[in-house]
Amino acid sequence: MADGDRSAELFARAAKVIPGGVNSPVRAFKSVGGTPYFVERAAGAYVWDVDGNKYIDYVQSYGASIVGHAHPKVVEAVTAAASLGTSFAAPTEREVLLAEAISGRVSGAEMVRLVNSGTEATMSALRVARAATGRDRVVAFAGCYHGHSDGLLASGGSGVATLGLPASAGVTSAAVADTVIARYNLVPALDKRVGAVIVEPVAANMGLVSPQPGFLEGLRAECDRVGALLIFDEVITGFRLAYGGATEFTGVTPDMWCFGKVIGGGLPLAAFAGRRDLMEQLAPVGAVYQAGTLSGNPLATAAGLAVLELLDRQSYSDLADRVRRFAGMVAGAAGPEVQIPVAGPLMGVFFGAETVVDYEGSGRSAASGRYAPMMHGLLERGVAIAPGAYEVMFPSLAHSESDFERTAEAFGVAAAIR
Ligand SMILES: *Cc1c(COP(=O)(O)O)cnc(C)c1O
Repeated sequence: MADGDRSAELFARAAKVIPGGVNSPVRAFKSVGGTPYFVERAAGAYVWDVDGNKYIDYVQSYGASIVGHAHPKVVEAVTAAASLGTSFAAPTEREVLLAEAISGRVSGAEMVRLVNSGTEATMSALRVARAATGRDRVVAFAGCYHGHSDGLLASGGSGVATLGLPASAGVTSAAVADTVIARYNLVPALDKRVGAVIVEPVAANMGLVSPQPGFLEGLRAECDRVGALLIFDEVITGFRLAYGGATEFTGVTPDMWCFGKVIGGGLPLAAFAGRRDLMEQLAPVGAVYQAGTLSGNPLATAAGLAVLELLDRQSYSDLADRVRRFAGMVAGAAGPEVQIPVAGPLMGVFFGAETVVDYEGSGRSAASGRYAPMMHGLLERGVAIAPGAYEVMFPSLAHSESDFERTAEAFGVAAAIR
């Protein structure tokens, strides 16, 4: 265990006043055992816990950070913004700048609305899509995560496409009655009841699963055939896979986009975007209601803009090249039964020999039970990866070659622990 006394003490206190001791479930280490380290501070590639342990961090706030923690430019932007007031609920210049920056990078994203979380972005994009098409039904894919709104907390059976069942207590069957769950990497046959198909263009919530050749193109064609809208949930992939996100990375253009994580630079900010005619369904122009007291918050837009300013096309290709080599080092050290899939600068870990293309394959890897001992072995060696077998690794621009070397070395030992 890498846990120390102070983390353990805080976790015990937390569990008395916060359900499970955490404000988001995976942080609790429930699926990997042990207790979480409480973070005191972070800088660049590293986090330090309250017991003084230092980790090379590949969690990076589940991808909210791509330039590393506490980047001086981001800290400076947020500090300067804070001194001018933290929230006005009146329009500000930086909201315009950020919307322009998003629209300028993602071809086809003509209009943008800023929200506070990825959950809000996907929920609102679906509301727009349903209004624009006049159709209720939505298709999502098993193993993709689109936040915790009721209609998207559906789970599927084993068929190609099955009507969703509630994936959480408290979600009514009515709330998911219009959600159909399909198998990732298989293009489902749609009909004219379907208003929207929502997909992670590179799936990063069932480990890292890339779209097979033809999958996204097939979804695009099938949506066009029946008049449904294609929504890319780019909350992880946006401004991470490439300068223009998954649209640039995959060459497939959806009708709507959802962004989060990177775009907020570590502050609560997300966005959804789309063609003008779709986005103008939104109030106050159109009839789709969507709002937020803190939406477009001045600190969050300052952080988001600062991060985007640090990222040019070269940063993405450099990081992707470095990650490809790093993944090779980790795979070499971890041995033949460990796979390290890569997509741009994203990395995953799977156990076993099969190429994972969907949630069932990912589930077989997780069922090996090898993730938890490896993850704890890494923690003991000063390397932090997410406490769940369905998460991915987020190498950042702040990680150095020596961080990568030390990480690969740690994998060499930790991946053998059973
Ligand atoms: C994290 C995530 C979300 C939800 O974002 P929150 O800000 O946690 O609400 C939605 N979609 C994807 C693909 C995500 O990874």
